[in-house]
Amino acid sequence: MNKSEKIWMNGELVNWHDAKIHILSHVIHYGSSTFEGIRCYDTDKGSAILFFDEHIKRLYQSSKIYRMEIPYSEQELKDAIIATIKANGHKACYIRPLVKRGQGALGVNPALASIEVAIATWEWGSYLGEEVLENGVDVCVSSWARLAPNTLPTWAKAGGNYLNSQLIKMEALMDNYAEGIGLDVHGYVAEGSGENIFVIRDGIIYTPMSGQSILPGITRNAVIHIARELGYEVQETLIPREALYIADEVFLTGTAAEITPVRSIDKYAVGDEKRGPITELLQSKYLDIVKKGTDPYNWLTFI
Ligand code: PMP
Repeated sequence: MNKSEKIWMNGELVNWHDAKIHILSHVIHYGSSTFEGIRCYDTDKGSAILFFDEHIKRLYQSSKIYRMEIPYSEQELKDAIIATIKANGHKACYIRPLVKRGQGALGVNPALASIEVAIATWEWGSYLGEEVLENGVDVCVSSWARLAPNTLPTWAKAGGNYLNSQLIKMEALMDNYAEGIGLDVHGYVAEGSGENIFVIRDGIIYTPMSGQSILPGITRNAVIHIARELGYEVQETLIPREALYIADEVFLTGTAAEITPVRSIDKYAVGDEKRGPITELLQSKYLDIVKKGTDPYNWLTFI
C-alpha cells in the first residue's frame, strides 16, 4: 500500500502517522465498525468517484443495522472524502471511510461508546494482481461457509464480518489459490472473501440472490445492469457447487477486484482456462466507464 499524506479523522485532516486510536476503543475488542471501499478513477475526462452515492448510502445503511448513528450528514461525508482526495493529490485512489465505536464502553453493550469516523485514501492497483484481469485467477471452494442468515447480517458491510472473510482468504492463499469461494450454510454458492461471483453457462449469466449470505455488491448491481442491457439473461438464483465445475465462464466482481475472470476452481478448468468472451465484453464496458469516463448511466462523480 502506498501511504498518503493525510487521513481525515472526526472532522480534521491529520498526518498519516498521527491517525491513531486508543487501545480500549470498542471496535478493537468487538469488531464494531462499518466501512466502505470506493474507487476514484483517473478517467480520460478527469478524476471521478465511481458509485459515490451508492457507497455512501450503503455506509449509512450498514451503520443503521448496527444502531450506529453517524454524526455527519451524507453531504458532509461526501465533502470530506473529496477534501481528503484533494489533500493527498490523488488522481486515482481507493477510498476507505470507516465508522467505528470508540471509547466509553468496555462491555459488549456499545451504547456508551463514542461513534467516530475516519476517511483514508491510498493509491491501489488491481486487487488480485494486474495481469489477472486478462488471464484470470485460480480459486477454490472454501471449507469455511459464509455467514448464516440471522447471525451476522451480510447486508451490513461491517468490520466483524471480515473475520470470516479472513479465514476464507488465508486458507485459499495457503493452498496457493488467489481467492476462496464461500458457500452458504446450505451449501449453495455465496461469494468470495471480498467479491461477488457470476457463473455463465450456455449463454445465461447466474449469480447468487442478494439475500443469500452475500454482500449485495455495488459492482454486482452494475454488472447485472450492463449485462441485461446487452441482452443477456441474468438470473439471481441458487447456484449449486457443481455448477462451478461445469461453467463456461466465471468471474468475480467488487470495487477492489473490478471484474476478475476465474480460470479454474478446485483445479477444474473453467471453459478454456482463460477469460471468456462474455466476461471480456462486460469488462470492456466497465473499462469504458472507468478509464475513458464514458458514463451513460451517470455512475461517475467528477471531482
Ligand atoms: N462481497 C464482499 C464480502 C465484499 O467485501 C465485497 C467488497 N466490498 C463485495 C462482495 C463486492 O462489493 P462491491 O461491488 O460493492 O465492492
